[in-house]
Parts: sequence; structure tokens; C-alpha cells
Amino acid sequence: FGDASVKNSIEGTNAILGGKGYNLAIMHGLGLPVPPGLVISTAACHAFYEAGLKLPQDMQDQIWASVATLEKQLGKGFGSVEKPLLVSVRSGAPVSMPGMMDTILNVGLNDDTVVAMATQSGNPRFAYDSYRRLLQMFGDVVMGVEHRSFGEILHDYKHAKGYHLDTEMTGEDWQQIVAAYKQVIIDQTGKPFPQDVRQQLTMAVSAVFESWHNERAKFYRNLHQISESLGTAVVIQAMVFGNLGDDCATGVCFSRNPSTGANEFFGEYLPNAQGEDVVAGIRTPLPLEKTPATAGTSFEETMPVLYKQLCDVKNILEKHYQDMQDIEFTVEQNKLWLLQTRIGKRSAAASVRIAVEMAHEKLITTDQAVCRVAPDALEQLMHPTLAPSSKDKPFAKGLPASPGAAMGILVFTAQEAIAKAHEGIKVILARTETCPDDIMGMQAAQGILTSHGGMTSHAAVVARGMGCPCVSGASSVQINETARTLKCGSIDMKAGDFITIDGHTGNIYKGEIPVKPAVLPEELQELLAWADAARRLKIRANAETAQDTKTALGFGAEGIGLCRTEHMFFDAAKMQLMQAMILAENIDERRKVLERLKPLHQKDFIDVLTLMQGLPVTIRLLDPPLHEFLPHTDKDMAELAKNLGVDTATLSKRIRSLDETNPMLGHRGCRLGITYPDIYRMQADAIFAAALQVAKNIARPVALEVMLPLITGLEELRVLKKILTDSADAAGIEGSAVDLKIGIMVELPAAALRAGELALEADFFSFGTNDLTQTTLGLSRDDAARFLPAYKEQKLMPADPFASIQVDTVGALVRMAAASGNAAKPGIKLGVCGEHGGDPASIQFFNTIGLDYVSCSPFRVPAARLAAAQAAIGQKKSQ
Ligand code: PEP
Ligand code: MG
Repeated sequence: FGDASVKNSIEGTNAILGGKGYNLAIMHGLGLPVPPGLVISTAACHAFYEAGLKLPQDMQDQIWASVATLEKQLGKGFGSVEKPLLVSVRSGAPVSMPGMMDTILNVGLNDDTVVAMATQSGNPRFAYDSYRRLLQMFGDVVMGVEHRSFGEILHDYKHAKGYHLDTEMTGEDWQQIVAAYKQVIIDQTGKPFPQDVRQQLTMAVSAVFESWHNERAKFYRNLHQISESLGTAVVIQAMVFGNLGDDCATGVCFSRNPSTGANEFFGEYLPNAQGEDVVAGIRTPLPLEKTPATAGTSFEETMPVLYKQLCDVKNILEKHYQDMQDIEFTVEQNKLWLLQTRIGKRSAAASVRIAVEMAHEKLITTDQAVCRVAPDALEQLMHPTLAPSSKDKPFAKGLPASPGAAMGILVFTAQEAIAKAHEGIKVILARTETCPDDIMGMQAAQGILTSHGGMTSHAAVVARGMGCPCVSGASSVQINETARTLKCGSIDMKAGDFITIDGHTGNIYKGEIPVKPAVLPEELQELLAWADAARRLKIRANAETAQDTKTALGFGAEGIGLCRTEHMFFDAAKMQLMQAMILAENIDERRKVLERLKPLHQKDFIDVLTLMQGLPVTIRLLDPPLHEFLPHTDKDMAELAKNLGVDTATLSKRIRSLDETNPMLGHRGCRLGITYPDIYRMQADAIFAAALQVAKNIARPVALEVMLPLITGLEELRVLKKILTDSADAAGIEGSAVDLKIGIMVELPAAALRAGELALEADFFSFGTNDLTQTTLGLSRDDAARFLPAYKEQKLMPADPFASIQVDTVGALVRMAAASGNAAKPGIKLGVCGEHGGDPASIQFFNTIGLDYVSCSPFRVPAARLAAAQAAIGQKKSQ
């Protein structure tokens, strides 16, 4: 890592060096103790694939030249039987993918060098333990031997000897295991383990490159939207040993608590162990910091000088990276070595706390803090937490590895988790320890429970990254994956039984436990206040009930961007009148029913407008096809017929006559206002009466925006606007404390194309990007789920266009309509009320094209505030 050419080109080169190699070079540059090594770049990974999964000759030459430098530097020889050099071969993608690719340690050991290692170290046990680890990793990763086979051999051997722990194994025992492992490699592959150390190294490098395309890595990239084309770098590094004796250890630490975000040094270690033991969750490690509970076992107590040194290291690294670090270290005979540092993965709550506290500490600016928290993480914070009653006693406790409450039936394998989740059944995946191959099952599960492994095991790290609740290292719980049972004292559970876990506390309960709404981290308000100061876009909510409106206000909504009036008819009283109105035989009868509906509807608007206290409220007139309000089953039709006093046959004929082939493109939206003007007139009367009444009772004027859906052109708009202005005039809006605007939804390509002329009659545009996506792409939002997954899998579409705006098509129409609307009526108010209004990537786009606000579901308001701020900060930086 000390090569000058690398040092000179370090900054910004982690796309080439990969995260691991880049950070090792940085640490070396900072003067920290890093075992020497070399990085094979991601460009070499591409060359490897282009050459048909081969290491081109010139690449091999470069590797050997660098290994020679390493040999010289350390006074050791690769394959030497006097002073053998052993190396680790590790993957290191530009974006961290913990545990998803492969690693091989102790490369360079063979039947001869192991003897030299045994003699030199005076510790044959260590030498043969290291050799069997190489055989195991190499056999599994490079030669394709079943991972399980090695575990079974070791298990049977220990059983025969009456051992329980690996630490009971002697040098001779490991020697026996080495022989058995070599045999299983031959049995399963027909080839012996390569004794030629050079062959070992090239095979290991190739295998790590190939692991870029293993199933779990692909799955992880898909999950976290990491590009397939990045490729991985490979780090070859001189081995240091944490398993040479009691003056050795290995550990993982975080510069702050990754679960809560508290500014405390947080980590775990294992005395006399090799690195992978901690992260793979094979043994449950000990804490780094001293507490009353550690009783002399913490790293701080057992190795105080090194603990102090490690504290200094973490301070240096956190200052350098200005972010929380996840550090791997090894102690070899009382000397500290750093094997890795990277930006630490953290829970959603921790990301908020860390960002805010780092800004307070002046380590970062408030703008940087705002950009540190992923808007999606805020949605995770909205998850409910457990509220156990006094009789709900946990039967066991593990480590609170990833926060959140989760409940479901017990399953014991990833496959089972996936199968049950497909059936829509909620599951908790229980494993003794999780291996990276479990990732698909972890994604399918509500929560994860392990009996081994610590807070830094892969299970914990990956779960935190996915926002999936996890309790790890619940050592009093015996999980038997073969028998599919979970036992703990008198508790005896089997697959299919209900279980609840609490990732906040680590508690585990039998059965289902009540939940309470999420408790948001204290620091969130401050972070959002910084976001509010940085953003330009206003954030509104889509809400129509008093409950939703209160939620929206609580989360900081600055208005209602879409009040879907159809949702107000969902209560029984109004629904009955609505049905009677739709099925009325003639105009007079319809008008009579509408008169009865009006006061009820007016009350809905009074509630919402009062709660909003003068903040803008956009009320949209009726939109869905009328048959959506009518019953479809025989039983429901019979009941309705009884209520209306008509016979069922006549009623069902009438209902069928309202059926349409393509209702979404049919008799809906403002077309209802054209064919049933009385409905819109009733709504307008109710809205204006409500607004005038509220205006008398609140301090500020009522900012009322009435909106027409599914407009296609000017002629239609003029007719409908007249219904509204007539009603407003009759009510006496003019000169009152009601500030009325009449606008339209731009949700059809026709409206976008005619936006210039529509702006002459409309006070505002609200882009209905749901319908606009549907009609621009000719894609039904109700049926797209049948084929969109195939498009995603075949990479024909980067994202679901209903979730994230398709910039070149739907986005282009929005951009164009906004520009022509603005040209015709400068300053015309422009907003978005489709689902995209709550999607961070779409918000970024809406910010760049100069819209005034986005409107989204109440629970997404905090995320939208943050995303809008990030968009503005990003735009400021790029200018
Ligand atoms: C839209 O089409 O984007 C919209 C907000 O309206 P709805 O989803 O109610 O059709
Ligand atoms: Mg719509």
C-alpha cells in the first residue's frame, strides 16, 4: 500500500481500488499499523472477465512482482520452508457489500510450509488450525466443496473425542482434521488441494473475482441498487495472526454505536481467534468496553494498552473520514494491526443521531448532516415498537442487533422463509448463526433471531442495512435447524409457532405482543429543521380524514396537496346516499339525494379546513368511475335492493349497465362533471359553504384550491369552471376571507400538451403522475404487477415507473407542461400529487424543473422534507 503511485492517486480512486484497498492505503498514509499488501484493481476484474475468467499473463506478472516486493519488505518467502509468507486474499468492491463475496485466509500454507510455521511459532496447534482453515475456505470457495462437509467432519471428530469447544482441540487433533479435509476435497472434486502456493494464489484471486457474480452478491446488489458493472478489487495482504496465543485477539469495532448512534466506542473481540470468527458469528464475542457486567473480560480490561491505542486509532479515523467507522483489527503477540476500515452501516435511528451530533461537534456542516441520512431510512423509523403488557414476559434475551419489533411464525431455513413469505405469511427466521447465503431469507422475513454471533456479525450488519429487526447471540436459546425446534428452559417451540422479537431491547417472546406507534429519535426534529432551512420545494400531504390531516401536520406538512373527495364517501351513511344518488331513476330524484348528501359532505370539509388553519388545501372533485361505489356480489346487491326498496333483478341490471371495459380510461374524472353536473355542483356548494364557515373561526384566510381531475382540454375546463364560479358567486366567496383558486390536475398527455392554453383558465397545475405514467406508458397501474417484475429482472426498466418517475417520458411531459404553463401565466403554482411526490429520486427531479411543491402520503412527509433539502443542496453544489 506504500507504493507512491498508489498514494498519489488515492483520492477519488476507490472505484478502481475498491473500498477495502482504498481505505487500507489511506490508513497506511495516516501512519497507522496496516500489514503490507497489494491491491488488484477493479479494472483487472473486468480484464479477468473479458479474458474468459482467466488472469491475463501481464496481470500475473504484476502480481508476482508485487509479491516479491512484499517478500523483501518482510524478509519472508512465499512458499519458503524457512520463513513462509502467508497472505489473505479478500474481495473489496467500490461499495461495501459485507460478507457477500469471498475471502480466503492463510494462502501459502501447504504440507511443507505448515511444518515451518509449526516450528517457527513453537505452536503446532496454531499452524495446523491455520492450515485446516485454509483447506476449508479454499475447498469451499475455490474448489466448490460443500461448506457443510467440513463442519460435519469437525463436529463428528469433536463428538468422538468428547470435546465441546474448538479450544479443546490439540495440534495433533488439527493434524487429523487437515488429513480428513484434504480427503474430502479429493472425494468431492477428484482433485487434490494444490500444494503449489503460486497456484493457490492465482486460483484464490480468480475465485474472488468470480464471487462478484455469486447469487448472494447479485441479490444484495439488487436490493441496494448497486451497479453490476462496478466489479470487485482484490486485496492481497500479509497475514497477521490473532490466534497465536493468549496475547492475541481479533475484533471489530464501530467508532459510534451503530444501533443507537450514541457516541460511544462500541465493539467486540475474541481472544486467540482469527478474524472471520467474529464476523461469521461462529463464537459469540466479548465486549470491547468495560462495564460492570464485563467482569474483567472486556478488551479494555484484558489489553488496556492496546485498548487505548485502538481508541486513538478510531479518533484519527473518524476525524479523517468525518463519519462513523467500522474497523477490523487483530492483535498479534501484543501488537495492534488494522485490517480494514469503512463507513459503518447503521440503523435508521443511528443515522439521524450520528448526523446531528457530528454537526454539533463541528465535524460536519448542517448541510452535510442533512445529506447523511437516507430519506428511506426515515420511513423505517415510522415502524411500530413493542408495548408488552405486564403479563408479557420475555423468555429469553439476545443482543439488540437491529431495531424494530417483528412477529411471525418460526421458520428455520432461508428457503422456508422465502416460501412462506410468498404465501403472504409473516415469518421470523431463526438460525444458530446466519451465513451470507441466508440473505434472501432474511429479506423475506419480518425479523431474524440467532443464538450465536454478536452485534457485528454479518447477520446483524446486513439486517441493519435492510432495516430488518434482528436479535442476535441469544445464547440461552437452543436452535435446532434439523429438528426445526427452538428450546429455552421450559419453552419448547417448533416451526410454525408464533414468536415475537424486539430489536430495540433484544427481548424474545412467545406468541404475539401488542405494538405501539414508533418513537422517533429526539434528534430528528433538529435534522428536519436544518432540512427545512435548506430546501426550496414545499411539502404537502395527500389527506382527507381528520386523522390523516393531523398526522400530516404532525410530520410538518405545509398544506394538503390532494384531498380525494371520493374517500370521504367511505362511511356507511354517506355511502348509502351515494349509492342511492348513482342509481336514481331521474334528475329530480338525484337532486333530492344530493341535497341530503351536501351537509354531510360540508362537515368533512369543515373538519379538514379547520385543522389546516389557513394552510393551503387542494380539494379534488369526484374522480373514480361510479360503479366503484356499487356492490358486485349477489349478496351485497340484494341488501342494497332492500335498502332502496327496489327489486334485485332491476338493480343488478342497472348496476351492470354502468360496467365499463376500461373504466380507468372511461367514465371518470371531470367527465362525471360533464355528464352529471349536479354532482360537481353539490360538491362545490358544500366546499364553499364550509370554507366561509371556517373563515369566520380561524385567524388566517382559508387558502382554498379546488381541483378538476382528468382534464384533457380547454373546452371541458371552461364548462366545469363555470359550475364552480357560479357556485362560488352564489355562496359569496368574492370579498370574503376565502382565497379561492381553481386549478386542474395535469394527468393526461393531452393536458400536458395543451398546458399553455390550459394555464390561461387554471390558477394552478397539480401533476397527477400516477395517471400520467399510466397513460404515457400505456401501462395499467392495476395490471402492471403481472409483467413489470420481468422487466426489472431483464433490466429493461431500472425501477418501477409507478414508484419512481420515468424522467425521459413522464418526466419530460411534466417538465414541458410546467414550462409552457409558466410561460403563459408566469408564477402559476405547480405541484405534484401522484405517488412520486414521496419518492426521493423523483423529488430530486421535481426540484430541478422548478415545481413549487410535492404532495405525498402523511407518513412520507419527513422523508420528503429531507429529500427536498438534499435535492436543493445537491443543486447548489453543482452550480
Ligand atoms: C394521479 O393520477 O397521480 C393522482 C394523484 O390521482 P389518483 O391516483 O387519485 O388517480
Ligand atoms: Mg389520477
